[in-house]
Formats: sequence, C-alpha cells, structure tokens
Amino acid sequence: MSTQDSNSKYRLAQLRLLLQKASVDGLVVTRQINIAYLSGFHGSAAHLLITQTDAILITDARYTLAAAQEAPEFTVVISNGSGGYVEALSLEAGKLHGVDRVGFEKNDVTYGQWESWTEAIPKSIVLVPTNDLVEKLRQIKSPDEIAAIRKAISVAQDAFLSVQNLLVAGTQERAFAFALENAMRERGATAPSFDTIVAGGPQGARPHHHPNDRAFVDGDLVTIDWGALVDGYCSDITRTVLIGPKSNGTKEQEKIHALVLESQQRAIAAIHPGKTGKEVDAAARDFLTEHGYGDAFSHSLGHSLGLEVHDGPGFSTRSDLVLEPGMVLTVEPGIYLADWGGVRIEEDIVVTETGCDVLTSLPQTITLHP
Ligand code: ZN
Ligand code: ZN
Repeated sequence: MSTQDSNSKYRLAQLRLLLQKASVDGLVVTRQINIAYLSGFHGSAAHLLITQTDAILITDARYTLAAAQEAPEFTVVISNGSGGYVEALSLEAGKLHGVDRVGFEKNDVTYGQWESWTEAIPKSIVLVPTNDLVEKLRQIKSPDEIAAIRKAISVAQDAFLSVQNLLVAGTQERAFAFALENAMRERGATAPSFDTIVAGGPQGARPHHHPNDRAFVDGDLVTIDWGALVDGYCSDITRTVLIGPKSNGTKEQEKIHALVLESQQRAIAAIHPGKTGKEVDAAARDFLTEHGYGDAFSHSLGHSLGLEVHDGPGFSTRSDLVLEPGMVLTVEPGIYLADWGGVRIEEDIVVTETGCDVLTSLPQTITLHP
C-alpha cells in the first residue's frame, strides 16, 4: 500500500467522524486542495461525494487514467464534460440509500453552482452548508506532512544562503527577489509558496510591500519574507537584515530588531497544547505594547502552514484556536514605522506534546557581516 492509499483511508475515516458530528449523512467536496488531500487526485476538475459507506470521485475524460491511479480508495465516475458534473452528481446522489442531508463547502460553492444543484439533485436530499470540515482535518499534520514542510523549509533556507551575498548596496529589491525565487526552483521548489516580499529602507514600513526597483543603500534594514512550495507543501520565513557592516546601523535599528526578536521568543515559549491562539498572540503583543510599540505591530502573530501558506486559523487577538500536537504555524511579530521602515522575524513551528519544535534554523542576527 502506498503512503497516499493509507493517508486516504485514514483521512476518510476521520472525515466520517466529523460528518456525524456535523449531523450530515454525506459531503460534496469541491475545493481542489481538499480533494487532493482526501483522495490523492491532483487533476484540476473534480467533485467528491463522501458518505459513511461511499467515496465517489467525479471527474471528466481528461483524467480517466490519472483518477484511477491516484485515488484508489474512490469509485471513479467520469462525467460528460463541464455541464456533466451536475448531472453526474445528481445521478450519484440519487443512488444513495438512507442519505437525506448532504453537506457542501459553503465558502467554495458559487451561487450559480448552488442554483444548478438545487434544481438537479433529488428533492429528497437536503443540501446543508458546512464550513471548514476538511480544513479542520488538515490542521493536524501527519509525520509525513511535517517531513514535507521541513523539506520546503530546507529548500527556502538553502536558497537564501546561496544568494545572501546580494544583500549589499546597489542590489534592487526586484533583482534580489528574482535571484531568491530562482535559487528555490533550482533546489526543487515547484514555485515560491507566495509572492516574495523584499522591502528595503522606508519601504519596510509596509508589511506586504511588493519588491520594486529601489536599490539597497548602506544602513538600510531590509525585510525579506519568502517560502518554497515543495511536493505540495509550503514554507514561510522572514528575516530582517542590515545592509553593510554593523557600524552602518543605528541604535534604534538594533533596539527595534532586538525587541521583535524577544517578542518572538516569548511567543514561542508560550506555545503549548491547550493554549489558545490569542494567548500566544498576547505573549508577543503585550511585550511590544509594554515597550511602546503595540500600535506598530499591525497584523496577527501567525497563521497555520501546510498545503497552503495560509492553511487555517493561527495566532491573533481573536483566535480561539486550541493548540494540539501536530499543528504547524508561523510566529512572525513585526514593528512598522512610517518613513522609517520595519522589522519582522518569522519562524515555522510544530506543536508537540510538551511545547513546540522550531522548524526553521537560519540565523536571526541583524547583520550578515559581524
Ligand atoms: Zn511570511
Ligand atoms: Zn507568514
């Protein structure tokens, strides 16, 4: 049995428990990333129909071979082209016995889809909107998934080390982003896991700055936020470094960098099974607030990481997420000051039985030139 077959069996069993809790007899899965997670099928068009006894994958003739190979736990139904999905779904739903309430992913289905489903699906079946059922399963990573995330981190880190010599006066933000993304692909990344952020000098005041043609100058703080997509899994790292020797930096830059780093360490120390997302967020935020920078930390502390770079809830002032072993999240406090710049430092962590393991390992120092 391949890893995917056993993953698929286990994930279906877990989902069936969630369906019972959600009081639905079945679920139509339309989100592509959830389809791949549950079935192993990676084609661009499919629906899953899952009940306590059935697991049906509806796709079209482009994927006849791929579906049978990639999703052995599923009965494959080949629909008749794009309009055929509704027809196939209603036909399959009509064959099910004792299935009255069928859930669908309410944040993925368009109004048009819902309209055509309600017209076509047998009237005896009630369509029930559900939210984040598969996403909830995805929050707890298996050892295989954690290994895949570690690989994505290693590709991103090695790539950074290979191009950090370009973090010097005269290099344009865009050129650095390009070199870093290229280095990730050379090391096995399918793509960057999101658009690389390179923000030098005052541009660092915008947390999600798009790299432009501004060239670094000595004394700039530069924030680089990047990640690799490797074998379907994402990494996400941020470092903020000073351009030129340490003597180019100011006391204020050093102070702010040190505060961000300490707030991150406090948050990491607070991570433990049973803690909530907001408690961990507060460990970093309260420290920065005490030092007068609470308002300058203008985003949440971190997010889940996995098949997607924003893989679900994380650490924020409102997060009720209760931490469990196997959750993978980012910890990324920052301070942003208009006309001055910014500092952000981001690690990826996995929650363990006793706390957490930090998966990222690049140096966090402000200067590359001691
Ligand atoms: Zn990031
Ligand atoms: Zn992030």
